[in-house]
Amino acid sequence: MPFADIIGHERVVEIFRKSIKSGKTSHAYIFEGPAGCGRRKTAMALIQALFCRQAEDDACGVCPSCRKVAGNNHGDIHFLEPLPDKRDISIAQLRDLQRDLALRPYEAPRKACIMEPADRMNLSSANSFLKTLEEPPGNALLILLTENADMLLQTIRSRCQLVRFAPLSSESIMLMLKRNGMDEASAALLSQMANGSMQRAAELDGEALAQRHEVLIKHLATLSLDRISTIFTASEELGGNREETLELLDILLSFARDMIHLSSGCSDIINTTIRPTLEGLVSRLNLERTLQLAEDILETRRSVQRNANVKLALDHLFIRVAGTLA
Ligand SMILES: [Zn+2]
Repeated sequence: MPFADIIGHERVVEIFRKSIKSGKTSHAYIFEGPAGCGRRKTAMALIQALFCRQAEDDACGVCPSCRKVAGNNHGDIHFLEPLPDKRDISIAQLRDLQRDLALRPYEAPRKACIMEPADRMNLSSANSFLKTLEEPPGNALLILLTENADMLLQTIRSRCQLVRFAPLSSESIMLMLKRNGMDEASAALLSQMANGSMQRAAELDGEALAQRHEVLIKHLATLSLDRISTIFTASEELGGNREETLELLDILLSFARDMIHLSSGCSDIINTTIRPTLEGLVSRLNLERTLQLAEDILETRRSVQRNANVKLALDHLFIRVAGTLA
């Protein structure tokens, strides 16, 4: 997709547009940023713009070259990643790449390679790649994607231009989800849960999330300090491994955030499908207790992140929640 369609990285795109216009792009870039934030899309947009003969500072999007890039079948773009059963990108893969880049491009002005994740080069493959970086055959464009540029050898880093990508804002994710045809309510919900990553948003299935909300609400309604088994059952059934528990806490936090909105008279909330339940809870709690609830959830989230025992942390949280809701 052309730069014009990239959402959420306006500053990065602006810099690329300027450098394309002035003919001053680098031959090697490191795109550093969290998974699912749009590094690969932006890399493809850069290649598309550099390959398009109609382009001034962005791809036209409609010429044969642009359509091939968009369809992922342009013969002059190489994708380099570890082979399916391997951890690292092998030295043999890098030699193949080097040989290939040395050949004349089929139709583009130059060849291009996207390497992901670039930090999966072991020392010998990294050293072999250094040669390619020093003298890219045929003026090839090399784009290295990584979540953390510090994982790359200093000698590689120093030969590339570093471009940093921030996590996507929830507004950007919501915009993209809606553009993909998702309804407003689901897009609002998923964009809040996605932690700045479209990949994460895609993994969170809307329907499964709604079901999970129902189960969660059911447990919250039964929590009682008089029947301690309700608390243990809730931790047992709602918790999971650390990652699943953090997800659960994020959902709870989104409930609490909505409740804070509702109790301060703002009707704009994320979890619209359970609005009556949230309104019911708000009518029983004052703002102070709602804020306390949010603080308890946040504190639990922090301790789970710090490696606390997940089950104990949830028991503790649900005891506090039961007390607050009583
Ligand atoms: Zn074009």
